[in-house]
Amino acid sequence: MKDMMAEIRSEKPTISFEVFPPKKEAVFESVKGKAEQIAALHPTFMSVTYGAGGGTSKFTIDIAEGIQKKYDVPAMAHLTCVSTPRAKIEEYMAEMQKRGLTHIMALRGDIPAEAPDKSEWGFAHASDLISYVKEAAPEMTIGAACYPECHPESVHVAEDIANLKTKCDAGADFLTSQMFFDNNVFFTFLFKAREAGIDVPILPGIMPITNAKQVIRARDLSHAFMPRRFMAIVDRFGEDPDAMRKAGIAYATDQIIDLYANGISHVHVYAMNDFGVASAIMENLKGIIA
Ligand code: FAD
Repeated sequence: MKDMMAEIRSEKPTISFEVFPPKKEAVFESVKGKAEQIAALHPTFMSVTYGAGGGTSKFTIDIAEGIQKKYDVPAMAHLTCVSTPRAKIEEYMAEMQKRGLTHIMALRGDIPAEAPDKSEWGFAHASDLISYVKEAAPEMTIGAACYPECHPESVHVAEDIANLKTKCDAGADFLTSQMFFDNNVFFTFLFKAREAGIDVPILPGIMPITNAKQVIRARDLSHAFMPRRFMAIVDRFGEDPDAMRKAGIAYATDQIIDLYANGISHVHVYAMNDFGVASAIMENLKGIIA
């Protein structure tokens, strides 16, 4: 199996993809099949998200295991710690270890809208979960999230970056960023993170937008700045599904090439279980990525 951290740290341009588990058992096989198709492209690693509330946590582990076993691609299972009791976190970790999964994305998760019963929470912050994983399973590679445009709950960037440093000091091996559509936003954030003493690899997260509806979802989820050049694509092609898909893939490819050209060696792509998008990006990057 590839050495994920060695590839991430290497100077050669590399790529990874994120997929998500289904909400319902009935579509599990179809979603697993899509994730495995993407794994067959042999990215550096794949990450599998954890459904809010943890109700689909079994699917996360099953999909990650399939990717790793069948395609020899390192698979990173996500885990969130709010609304997940400590016993469930321990159970999840034990299951990961049993299935040979040694890469974990340690997250807090979004706080549920209904009055959260904090006594049920395993941990209040991702940094607490990271400290726990570091002690309970020192063999695990730990990823954590970062926010180039500031986490919405933080008052300002300096506070968010100070909390990010706590996460790294707790044991995060690398960070993956929230999506962004203007690379300058990422470079500014990278500069500030390095200035704050954060020295782990920081992977930019790129979301290819392939239909107009996704624009609203992406903005609501990430609060990301949408540059004029990007909005012009949506305005011009938003009503034409084929054109929007092609233009969205081209925009994401352009962002990725610009990141590589400016010294970033690894990019994480939010593939949204779409093999067509993942394979088109790989094709566009032929000759560029290792
Ligand atoms: P934290 O690092 O705990 O930060 C949350 C907020 O609390 C920030 O404002 C931070 O500055 C602040 N904070 C952190 N530590 C402290 C402290 N010690 N004291 C005071 N304030 C503090 N969600 C899912 O449900 N499932 C997923 O699989 C998933 N995958 C994701 C992958 C990536 C790459 C990203 C960027 C996000 C993902 N999310 C996922 C969303 C994520 O769960 C939310 O953004 C969540 O609101 C914050 O999670 P976190 O791990 O960044 O939290």
